[in-house]
Amino acid sequence: MLQTKSEDEPMVTKKKSKIPCLSLSSFLPALEAVTAAVTMPGGGGVPPGTPSAKPKEKQRTKVVVALYPFKAIESGDLSLEKGAEYEVIDDSQEHWWKVKDENGSVGYIPSNYVKEKETIGLQKYEWYVGEMSRQRAESVLKQEDKEGCFVVRNSSTKGMYTLSLYTKVNHPQTKHYHIKQNIRGEFYLSDKHCCSSIPELINYHKHNSGGLCCRLKATPCDRPAPPTAGLSHDKWEIDPGELVLLEELGAGQFGVVRRGRWRGRTDTAVKMMKEGTMSEDDFIDEAKVMTKLQHQNLVQLYGVCSKHRPIYIVTEYMRHGSLFNYLRRTAPDQLGPAVLLDMCIQVCKGMAYLERHNYIHRDLAARNCLVGDENVVKVADFGLARYVLDDQYTSSGGTKFPIKWAPPEVLNYTRFSSKSDVWAFGVLMWEVFTCGKVPYGRMKNSEVVEMVQRGQVLEKPKGCLNEIYNVMKACWRHAPEERPSFRLLKEELAGVAQSVLAD
Ligand code: AMP
Repeated sequence: MLQTKSEDEPMVTKKKSKIPCLSLSSFLPALEAVTAAVTMPGGGGVPPGTPSAKPKEKQRTKVVVALYPFKAIESGDLSLEKGAEYEVIDDSQEHWWKVKDENGSVGYIPSNYVKEKETIGLQKYEWYVGEMSRQRAESVLKQEDKEGCFVVRNSSTKGMYTLSLYTKVNHPQTKHYHIKQNIRGEFYLSDKHCCSSIPELINYHKHNSGGLCCRLKATPCDRPAPPTAGLSHDKWEIDPGELVLLEELGAGQFGVVRRGRWRGRTDTAVKMMKEGTMSEDDFIDEAKVMTKLQHQNLVQLYGVCSKHRPIYIVTEYMRHGSLFNYLRRTAPDQLGPAVLLDMCIQVCKGMAYLERHNYIHRDLAARNCLVGDENVVKVADFGLARYVLDDQYTSSGGTKFPIKWAPPEVLNYTRFSSKSDVWAFGVLMWEVFTCGKVPYGRMKNSEVVEMVQRGQVLEKPKGCLNEIYNVMKACWRHAPEERPSFRLLKEELAGVAQSVLAD
């Protein structure tokens, strides 16, 4: 069911797009056809049995390079050393591959910690950070607070790159420079100094400021490794004896959530499920599938402790807690429109991944998203609503039902779909751009239902750009089929970011 490649993975192509200027709507059907072709079961765009012009090649050895270190946990796992090469022996499972190291030792490693040597491109350079917004680049560099500290990141124009450089001259600030290409395909920051590749260009500016505010001197310290899909190969049942429970992080629908340390080294959040609140056996089966959902904007499910009661749901730990609380407690001057839009884009990317895998969230709202370091936002609790036993939560007439996030077809027929998630996403955008206001204020649920049925929608948040409010309104179209998909929303929001905010 799940694909190996996420479309959010960093691009390594360097060529400027040759696509003529098409409108997004005329471009999308073609894009859809391409996506359908590359995601066909069997993993290829060519149907089985299609005659191939090429003679059968001997299967080549796949070699990968470790992007992050990994410490073997269970017997059967293999440790990874950053930068070292490994031969892939079995990549038939999506998230854990069997590889061989240079000493001939064989074991499983998380596939998101490595990159194929042939396609590694810029990823082998410590200064390349791939998908990182301007806002996050600024907060990472500010945190380092070193003169000449820099990163190269994907620009919001596909296939292009931006250099973000921190300087303390005059006052601390981050400058952003587009890496341009001339007609000969050479790269430059200032057209007096062209180089045949980006690494050469970076090297040049390490020695010469050449028009930049200062020389490139340092890169941020090692960035944290991403979570793995499960804590080890084929592991989703977690021994509670290996979890040390720490402080309480909060309490929600299902009970208390505490921070946990697994085997003394992996931070986790542990949701202790109040007994009788969920249909446990069904959920435990589903948890095996959920550990396999992996995206940088989804809170990773590590596994469950299902052998005792209460059962524990063990997930990735997110330092700043729920997005709703984060919006309410953070000073408004720290949350400018660019940061707020970046948060919405991140949620949209996580949701586009769920949509691609035909996975419906059913309770998307700011309270169900979490914030980590560098303003990273991830969607949590996807699909959990299906296992709740409380009628007050599951029936649209219930007091705990998320009415204010529900579209007409959910209110009328409890008809959930990715398009009902899109409606909820519009409300989430409204929560973000009001910095955590409650939608529809103090209106009673019955009044909200009436208002939605009449086709009335939430008002434009104060100071919100028309372009952004238009996206919210598209999410609130009465007929689900008229609402955009998350895939389209992602493109539209990126377009808004590019046209009205700096890249
Ligand atoms: P929930 O039961 O998911 O509504 O969680 C209740 C509260 O616990 C949230 O509002 C957060 O403050 C906190 N919390 C839940 N999951 C996490 C996590 N993965 N990392 C950090 N805090 C969390």
